[in-house]
Amino acid sequence: MKKVVIFTGAGISAESGISTFRASDGLWNNYKVIDVATPEAWKKNPALVQDFYNQRRRDVLNAQPNLAHTRLHDLESQYDVTIITQNIDDLHERGGSTNVVHLHGEITKSQSTANKNLVYDIKGDTLKIGELCEVGSQLRPHVVWFTEDVPNMPLAIKLVEEAEIFIVCGTSLNVYPAAGLIYYLKEDCIKYIVDLDTSTINETEFIKVEKKATEGIDEVVSALLTELVKS
Ligand code: NAD
Repeated sequence: MKKVVIFTGAGISAESGISTFRASDGLWNNYKVIDVATPEAWKKNPALVQDFYNQRRRDVLNAQPNLAHTRLHDLESQYDVTIITQNIDDLHERGGSTNVVHLHGEITKSQSTANKNLVYDIKGDTLKIGELCEVGSQLRPHVVWFTEDVPNMPLAIKLVEEAEIFIVCGTSLNVYPAAGLIYYLKEDCIKYIVDLDTSTINETEFIKVEKKATEGIDEVVSALLTELVKS
């Protein structure tokens, strides 16, 4: 089976009712990212950071996967599919996708502030100050904050290097190092971008599908499934 890698961002979940980030002028749900998504913010005001992610977690738990998520699952019938997502929501998994690599963590999980390898499922929607890991340290959201290392980057680079078909969807390609993944693609890889604004990519070899994610992904997936039937 041909290897398909899909690289997604907040735009693929927009039609599920989850706000994107850049769309609101650098504000994320009316907060400045520096106040809620950095290690400094956590040091300064952990309660505010917990409240912010508790609200985002409620948004995610109340949202449903959309057609873009579920169509990517359909591709698995005929391709070897991996999704690399910058999203912290679980809509790819709930849309049926099997292989999902989260670059920026998962909002449904917590991690120890003493050891980032101690990761737990969050029961319900709230993580509180005073909730501790097994070695007695405060639990924080299992997300990668700005300026922190991205532990899954080496794995993502390897997957992108091996891709035969690559689809970017719903990312402004502003957040590094994730945005740099496109530079690891093989020359002969077939490349698509599905976004309301495809000017985020200058590379001419990308096939541009300037549509909302549900329409654009449906179109690309249908083409790929038909293509395979033909060949
Ligand atoms: P971004 O908000 O910077 O960019 C969103 C992109 O999606 C833009 O290019 C926009 O044109 C496009 N878009 C918006 N609505 C769309 C639609 N309906 N169909 C197709 N395209 C659409 O997102 P980013 O590049 O992922 O960077 C934001 C960072 O913030 C991420 O790293 C992520 O960790 C975090 N974030 C995550 C979520 C989530 O988990 N759902 C939501 C907001 C922010």
